[in-house]
Amino acid sequence: MRVSFLSVVSGFSRTAAIIALMSTSVVAIQLVSVSDEIAIGKHAQAEIRRQTPELSDSAVTAYVSRIGRQLAGHAHGARYPYSFSVANYREINAFALPGGPVWVNRGVIQAAGNEAQLAAVLAHEIAHVAQRHSAQQLSKAMVTNLGLNLLGALLGNSGGANAANIAARYVASGAFLKFSRDDEREADRVGAQILARSGWDPRGMIELLQTIREQEKRDPSSVEVFFSNHPSPKDRIAVLQQAMPRARNGKRDSPQFQSNRARLKTLPPARSMK
Ligand SMILES: [Zn+2]
Repeated sequence: MRVSFLSVVSGFSRTAAIIALMSTSVVAIQLVSVSDEIAIGKHAQAEIRRQTPELSDSAVTAYVSRIGRQLAGHAHGARYPYSFSVANYREINAFALPGGPVWVNRGVIQAAGNEAQLAAVLAHEIAHVAQRHSAQQLSKAMVTNLGLNLLGALLGNSGGANAANIAARYVASGAFLKFSRDDEREADRVGAQILARSGWDPRGMIELLQTIREQEKRDPSSVEVFFSNHPSPKDRIAVLQQAMPRARNGKRDSPQFQSNRARLKTLPPARSMK
């Protein structure tokens, strides 16, 4: 686990350290602690909830949360307060906020062919959280875009809640939902490991990407958002095939998955993100 920059510099002048940091452009250093991250995620989650139509069907949302919790229990790293929400959108997409909140669109459940494919999407998002990709993004943004405004708030005596607010607005604005290609590859690889450790067939990850490729031919508008913030499934499949964890007899499907997916078809249609 990475050491928080703030705890490293406590004991001598933080301001001097920050100026030194900015002048050398060391962006790999983690400026955001786990507790900062959780606070930022909480604020961002409140903002996202205001913007997003949440699926109100408690049977489906409880089912998705159950899978998510089981996967999160097998993630390495800090014990983040993971939560799982379903957005009532038809498009295929999912994202994670710093510190634990994970969102998956209803369109993912409807497109997935089995439970392992749905679990794969959640495992990928959990991996983004567990690997602290948002914290790294936020650290970079603090050094480059947001600058001293946020740093000042974060380091100031009265700063905690204020900094979390500033960062959360930035996160919720969507600037954060795009990770680097390396982060995406890592989330695939680590997500496949989480899937295997949790008892699902990790090949669900590859199958879901194949499903997305097929969906692109059938209904391009349903995968537009996904393609705008993820590398191409073709490349991801190639990398994953090299990194598949060995897992025998992983779970592929369940009657619950099929009944929840069938249930979605009986509900009013999902909304569009557009
Ligand atoms: Zn991702």
